[in-house]
Amino acid sequence: MKVAKVIVDVPASPIDSALDYEIPEHLTEIVQPGIRVIVPLGPRKIMGFVVDLAQESEFDQLKPITDVMDYTPILTGELLDLSIWLKKETLCFRISALQAMLPAVFKAAYEKEVWLTEEEQLLPEKLRHVVQGREVFPFSDLEESEINERDIRNLIKDDLIDIKYVVKGKNRVKKHTFVEQALENHMLMEEYENLSAQAKKQKDVLSYFIDQDEPILLNDLIKKVQTTKAPIDALVKKGILKLTKKEVYRDPFEHKSMEPSEPLQLTPYQENAIEPILNSIKKTYYQTYLLHGVTGSGKTEIYLQSIQRVLNKGKEAIVLVPEIALTPQMVSRFKARFGDEVAVLHSGLSQGEKYDEWRKIHRKEVRVVVGARSAIFAPFENIGIIIIDEEHEQTYKQEDYPKYHAREIAKKRAEYHECPVVLGSATPTLESYARALKGVYHLLELTERVNDQAMPEVEIVDMRKELHRGNRTMFSESLTEQINERLEKQEQVVLMLNRRGYSTFVMCRDCGETINCEHCDISMTYHRQHHKLKCHYCGDERPMPNICPSCESDSIRYFGTGTQKVEEALNVHFPDARVIRMDVDTTSRKGAHEKLLEKFGNHEADILLGTQMIAKGLDFKDVTLVGVIAADSMLNLPDFRASEKSFQLLTQVSGRAGRHELPGQVVVQTYSPEHYSIEMASQYDFEAFFNKEMQVRRQFQYPPYYYLALINISHENHVAAVEASKEVANIIAHHTTGNCQLMGPSPSPMMRIKDRYRYQCMLKYKQRENVDGALQKVLDHFKKDIQQQKLQLTIDFEPYHFM
Ligand code: ADP
Ligand code: ZN
Ligand code: ZN
Repeated sequence: MKVAKVIVDVPASPIDSALDYEIPEHLTEIVQPGIRVIVPLGPRKIMGFVVDLAQESEFDQLKPITDVMDYTPILTGELLDLSIWLKKETLCFRISALQAMLPAVFKAAYEKEVWLTEEEQLLPEKLRHVVQGREVFPFSDLEESEINERDIRNLIKDDLIDIKYVVKGKNRVKKHTFVEQALENHMLMEEYENLSAQAKKQKDVLSYFIDQDEPILLNDLIKKVQTTKAPIDALVKKGILKLTKKEVYRDPFEHKSMEPSEPLQLTPYQENAIEPILNSIKKTYYQTYLLHGVTGSGKTEIYLQSIQRVLNKGKEAIVLVPEIALTPQMVSRFKARFGDEVAVLHSGLSQGEKYDEWRKIHRKEVRVVVGARSAIFAPFENIGIIIIDEEHEQTYKQEDYPKYHAREIAKKRAEYHECPVVLGSATPTLESYARALKGVYHLLELTERVNDQAMPEVEIVDMRKELHRGNRTMFSESLTEQINERLEKQEQVVLMLNRRGYSTFVMCRDCGETINCEHCDISMTYHRQHHKLKCHYCGDERPMPNICPSCESDSIRYFGTGTQKVEEALNVHFPDARVIRMDVDTTSRKGAHEKLLEKFGNHEADILLGTQMIAKGLDFKDVTLVGVIAADSMLNLPDFRASEKSFQLLTQVSGRAGRHELPGQVVVQTYSPEHYSIEMASQYDFEAFFNKEMQVRRQFQYPPYYYLALINISHENHVAAVEASKEVANIIAHHTTGNCQLMGPSPSPMMRIKDRYRYQCMLKYKQRENVDGALQKVLDHFKKDIQQQKLQLTIDFEPYHFM
């Protein structure tokens, strides 16, 4: 083959199709679809993915590929094809689709540098500004300067600068030095005898290897033998030992030893549920299953035994778990069953760690991957099952381009591999459950908990009544009583505060002035730790004022309920209780999340207080009380899923109590106790909730009755934003076909973020064909403005965020 078709790393529409490049003689063996290459594009050298090969091109005078970055394909044929589908499905650039399939290291894996080929004094003024005494500097410095593409081309032509690229991907692998013996054991003994008595340290080292002949990390050996590097060097010099460099995988769970687990005898309910899955594994066909089972009904055991069957067939398994539930507790259930066969991919890993785990998959060293959303792209070639646990979680939808939903990718891949997809949840999405009822998915129900334990009883407390009775604290009488009871019995309590929609805002008690972010029109949040105000949308910070900027009164205070404030209140009302607070502030450091949970598990605290991150996946045997501080804060968001989300969250957090021998109790504090999602969650009545909510969705024409596409338009100039959004609406109105409805344009709920004015249009439709043409027209119409980045225009299918 002489020609490579390359998708280059420029996410812009004019070059969103593959470009032809000549394959130079010396690279013909290496260049194949799925590898990355460096190619010239205008004055630049740039990374690209080879997606196809051809004998010839319709263009002549092709430029040659400069270099290869991979020696084996990092994307399979299946994934290359999937990227075409993904591009169509999400209207993203093909390059973005390709990059979404790889760990981020691959994206940042090369850097362009500018090398001076002339003395700085001889350079044009403009360039000297950038150079500032350096002989080599990042290409991005040029891009950020006044120097444009044409200038760069001229600078290169005049031989003043040279653009080089540094490929980082090639030596990202972490290597370690190992020590091993270079001679047979009996020879070691001989050498040992020959060493003089003064060479005591060398003798110690040797005796280590006489006992044991595995290579050992140099550092470990030094520690074990309590020596320095010198005696080891001496032995290496004599040819008795040798040093080798080996790749070491950075295993984030390596220090945890694990009891292996055996498959459990399934209950009759589990048997019924697993049978169809096993059947489609056996007969090799694609089917999506919706496994609906309350918390503790034994879904995970079904996953494990299905995977075992897949491994027995020599195939591979992908398990998706919400990021937040990807705790050591969760992971260890898979590692305990499948040991070294398991790779783990989640965002808590460093880039290097992620890369390591990815390589294990790529080299087929593991056959099970447990991971967050992006693990759906694991480069397996023989997939036998894809499992998505907690399928209702929003985290499966990617919010950046490509705005894909992992569930859709799963179905697409499973179709290709002819294998089952299992979606598991106690509270499936309305979309999935409706599909299951229609027979599109195969519904599997687990109605009982494995140990026959009842779900904990839920008490709903009307906070309005508390206030009327004169209780101004954030804990109702009932909750206070129950907490005290648990403290006495030395049982544990989980308290959840739903912070979405709530924040600690600052207000003047005299004049009512609140402090809003200058860029975002939302109230700034008070951060006690630094005594500062912060905007959660743009990150802007400013000091907490001592007096009101409007009336100069000193009665300026922060209001609202944040976890810190609840923690303070806990300290006041329950002075003897030990509290662990878990929220974004206390868990931002790597591993902090696990540490706090471990502490709680070890009974180093009585109360675990946290945001929704505590609702999922935790399993502590002494937790007998769960309190929800403000259950309805989520009901009032501008989002049609608000009821569904409340229902899911309440159901889930209730499942945290009484998972073992001790019975559990749940107290839900709310200002709207009559709301159906609160009422039905307290009765664990998914079906009733589903039916009620489906009526609402039908009435207002929301999913699953209609599909949605959200078009966001933003511009620094308010008038331009309004004009553009009108234009968008106009194009859509004229070019959609069939049963579609357009809402808007209207200002976004957050009308201004980072000094940009934001508008949106919402499109409801029944069939994708009816809107695709119109949306493509919109993108084409604004191509120039988007490219110049004046206008931002995003299209989000099946959106989850409406802010
Ligand atoms: P889910 O994933 O639905 O929340 P799990 O799979 O975690 O449920 O099961 C809940 C508990 O029941 C776990 O402690 C699990 O080990 C146990 N379990 C599951 N299946 C069985 C079984 N067939 N026999 C005995 N214990 C089981
Ligand atoms: Zn004031
Ligand atoms: Zn802001």
